[in-house]
Amino acid sequence: MQVGSRRGVVPSLAPERHAPHGAHVHRILLVEDSSDLREAMGAVLTTEGYEVDIARDGDEALSRLRAGPRPCMILLDLFMPVMDGRQFRAEQRSDPALARIPVIVVSADDKLAEAARTLGVAHWLTKPVDLNALLALPARCCDAV
Ligand SMILES: [Zn+2]
Repeated sequence: MQVGSRRGVVPSLAPERHAPHGAHVHRILLVEDSSDLREAMGAVLTTEGYEVDIARDGDEALSRLRAGPRPCMILLDLFMPVMDGRQFRAEQRSDPALARIPVIVVSADDKLAEAARTLGVAHWLTKPVDLNALLALPARCCDAV
């Protein structure tokens, strides 16, 4: 199943599967300028029991990160107005308080693997986003579990 495709499928998934009582709840910062994708990905992640923070560009993402709380991972679109994903990544890497937060770049760029390497990012998701791949990321990226 995919989100970000023209049909914009948002499946109904069992709520709070990843958030049993008292357990660590993954917090995800979603940085995406497309409101459709923000809503689709945000809905899927929220339904799965994750805490989701939203930013519309890199500049807003930096403000959110500096205001806290710290997310387990950042889903980062590459092409955005105001401050794009590359500029955001440069700012993030130069700030010791933020540099270690795992970043997953999300883009339709056909050279995404290469872009991820350049940006020093371990994971990437190609648009349209595969839901199984998306939902597997918190467990792979978060070291709090
Ligand atoms: Zn976590």
